[in-house]
Amino acid sequence: MKSGSTTDLYRKLPSVDELLRTPAIADLISREGPAAVTESARAVLSRLREEIGTALVDDESLDLALSGIPSAIERELQQALRYSLRTVINATGVILHTNLGRAPLSHAAIDHIREIAGAYSNLEFDTETGERGKRDIHVDRLFQKLLSEEAAELPSAGRAGTPVPTLNAISTIVVNNNAAAVLLALNTLADGGEVIVSRGELVEIGGSFRIPDVMAKSNAILREVGTTNRTRIADYERAINEKTRLILRVHRSNFQITGFTEQPRIEDLVALAKKRSIPFVEDLGSGALFDLNSVGVSGEPGVLDSLRAGVDVVTYSGDKLLAGPQAGILSGRADLIARMRANSLFRALRVDKLTYAALEGTLLAYVRRDHDAIPALRMMRLSKEEIGKRAEAIAGKTQSATLQVDVIDGESVIGGGAAPSAVLPTRLLAISHKDLGADELAARLRASDTPVIARVDEGRVLLDLRTVFPQQDRLLLETISRIESQNAEVRIQNAELKT
Ligand SMILES: *Cc1c(COP(=O)(O)O)cnc(C)c1O
Repeated sequence: MKSGSTTDLYRKLPSVDELLRTPAIADLISREGPAAVTESARAVLSRLREEIGTALVDDESLDLALSGIPSAIERELQQALRYSLRTVINATGVILHTNLGRAPLSHAAIDHIREIAGAYSNLEFDTETGERGKRDIHVDRLFQKLLSEEAAELPSAGRAGTPVPTLNAISTIVVNNNAAAVLLALNTLADGGEVIVSRGELVEIGGSFRIPDVMAKSNAILREVGTTNRTRIADYERAINEKTRLILRVHRSNFQITGFTEQPRIEDLVALAKKRSIPFVEDLGSGALFDLNSVGVSGEPGVLDSLRAGVDVVTYSGDKLLAGPQAGILSGRADLIARMRANSLFRALRVDKLTYAALEGTLLAYVRRDHDAIPALRMMRLSKEEIGKRAEAIAGKTQSATLQVDVIDGESVIGGGAAPSAVLPTRLLAISHKDLGADELAARLRASDTPVIARVDEGRVLLDLRTVFPQQDRLLLETISRIESQNAEVRIQNAELKT
């Protein structure tokens, strides 16, 4: 195309002012306001200018584009005014998926957030005395219930019924996340002193949480003991000196060491810490408040297991196995927790009223033993058969000449720092397409209005309904069906191009 005619094409573009005066756009302005519409009009015009610059546009196609400007501006406006943070359908089967927001909240938690968020509250106010109160009392009382008195009768992941008298003096505080909880514990108990950690526990959790880095930020000195695969109680014992402030145990969370391995029993570490009067903190990461054995997962220590064993303070996430809001929770010896509350870091890491509302709503379900009220726990308790039935229903309605939809055996993953081997048997929808590769298929599912996030394995797209809410099944079915019609549109376009 000659440059002369390109200049002519540029001349055909209206100015922003001209555009804003056209009736269609004036209508938009009255709905959405002049600022947003002007910005969208500029964006659309500048895209057209770019296209002319590429010399791929001729007179005819530009006329077509010009007539489509009002609707292009409207689409642009919709995009610009749409929320960036949106819901997706999690069909990955990973129940606590960090990238997808970990635990979905219970109805009770959401209702409580709504109630507290839109009004004033007694967050830090004692209505009885009329004086200032503490924000942590709202959940501390519930943790007391869950981690003391009656808790002794609660079944837990491991050593059920072991009597531990000190459980009655357990306090709990809440900070922004578990990374913050570990930072607060280390800084409070070991500022300037040494912390003993096994070399087999110097973990990195996703999102750049690394034990040595957090240690450095807390101004504690890391004292590594043992080897990657084997650490004995004698290694800890030898490392203790006058600078030792703390023994730290870290849950391995996202990896396993198998084969020639050794780790001291928690009871032996407790005994050593007591003998030498050194606090013993365990970073549990996930921190379950329910019996994981009940869903067929063994060997994961719960919060109660550690406290019963005599660990002084445990740190754990609010949005992993506890299945509540993002938070970092410190539960343990009242005197140590009191020191953490008095640390000025606690003020910097504190959580807002919305988090307390969500935690209170979640914890009350535990107090009532109503685990099915908590979505992530309900998902863990779903049977393979229930999931299979829903999968069959969708498969029956989406199977077609081009779309092959099977229901096969598979595994769901608990995630959220439970052991990688913590999996649950499930049934999967396995989808393949006559003309499209699995990656393209997965990309189309992600591109739908409510993105569907799936796994791809061996040339097929795998959807696990364990993490899909039953009320989303219909939308999922429609989304899968639409891939079909989308494909038909693409075929028609291709055919048009060829003729
Ligand atoms: C997940 C995890 C953390 C970090 O917790 P966040 O709540 O994500 O900050 C720290 N330690 C362990 C062992 C974990 O599993």
